[in-house]
Amino acid sequence: MNDLVAYRGTGLIPVASYARTSEDFRQRDGHGVRHQLRINERTARQQGCRVVAVYADNGLSASRPGVARPGFDRMLGDLLRGSTSDGQEIRGVVCVADDRLYRRPEDFSRFYASLTAREGRVYVDPRGVRDPYSQEGLLQAVRSLDAAVTETRVRSQRITNWHWARAVEGVPHSGPRPFGWQEDRITLHPYEAVLVQRAISDRIGGKAVRAIARDWCDLGVTGTRGGRPNAQTVTQIITAPRVCGYRANKGVLLLVPGTTRPVPGQWAPIVPPERWQAVCATFSPGSLYLHRGSGAPRLTEERAKPRRIGSGLLRCGSQRSDGTECRGAMSAQKGRSKRSPYVYTCRSCSRCSISGPLADEALERLLFSAAPEHARLSETVRRRWTGGDMDVDEKRRALRSVLACCVVRPGVKGNPSWDHTRVQPVFRRVVGESP
Ligand SMILES: [Zn+2]
Repeated sequence: MNDLVAYRGTGLIPVASYARTSEDFRQRDGHGVRHQLRINERTARQQGCRVVAVYADNGLSASRPGVARPGFDRMLGDLLRGSTSDGQEIRGVVCVADDRLYRRPEDFSRFYASLTAREGRVYVDPRGVRDPYSQEGLLQAVRSLDAAVTETRVRSQRITNWHWARAVEGVPHSGPRPFGWQEDRITLHPYEAVLVQRAISDRIGGKAVRAIARDWCDLGVTGTRGGRPNAQTVTQIITAPRVCGYRANKGVLLLVPGTTRPVPGQWAPIVPPERWQAVCATFSPGSLYLHRGSGAPRLTEERAKPRRIGSGLLRCGSQRSDGTECRGAMSAQKGRSKRSPYVYTCRSCSRCSISGPLADEALERLLFSAAPEHARLSETVRRRWTGGDMDVDEKRRALRSVLACCVVRPGVKGNPSWDHTRVQPVFRRVVGESP
């Protein structure tokens, strides 16, 4: 401390003034930093020092790893060199408190090494001048570090507890509004909630999520952040436990403490828990909300393969109340008769159905005898088809290459004869043209 005494006698010690506000500080207007720097000025004067350089980091955390603090780094560089960039000698640091400088051991050791890189340095704060080379000076600094580390730990535990306490009370998640609910996250959104409910029913009934997403796009539906619905977002929406009023936290269903009962949310559910369980059961575990959490990427991209050649290719020809044709995609379902072990039914209106074998026969006829010249299949493909060498996928590709779609006229109730003309082809203008 002889140096210090000497300086006091002859003049003021040139020090670096450092200030920092963390990101949780109310405003990033530099107000907090200016305030600290002013206190540093006063402290320096009171302790026989004079501020020759100012370093500040505004809105930067010192407790989170990986946050760069340019002001801090620049000051350490100047301390190591012994002077500022314009050649002013630095013999110490003034700060309002140690935790402005360091809250993590890594920063502490860097700061300490830079400060004591040369002899005769001082550390100054409103409590007085500290000799960083003495055991007492070092201990004081370590105690400050210890307090800062503890505080950081307590604070993050407090935040975790706060989230948990809110969750077990069934308080809705913070963050963007979930699809299906209004801004209050409690009341159902009249339109979206109906869509979610219908999507869950459709999915339980065997509809592909991709098709549901397409329907939503056709309806002009967007996510609550403006995104276009896709299979992934629809899966996330319809399998989220919140649809039945359950609360999940980080991908785990929250239970009432000490029980196996899920925490009931305070918001209005869209479907009862059985429906949520039923819709979840239609997905492989990896694609479920609960196994992924809300933000995690999907592990599997499950997509039920159509097992019938006409699925999706056949379109509903029944009339809607406004006189237009439904044109909804038809998919195969289990039929009730021996003659029709499966039937194609419109997924949109359900008002049009056709015997599966009848429709498939009609499709085959169209392909082999009715196709216009330009839309004929090659001889090789024909032979492979009739020879039984093609699987459903290949047959679907062959049909798709020739037919844009087929419109199915609704049948006449009680007519037992097969009417192949019910399947009306829409041939492609150019073979192989994409839909
Ligand atoms: Zn229809």
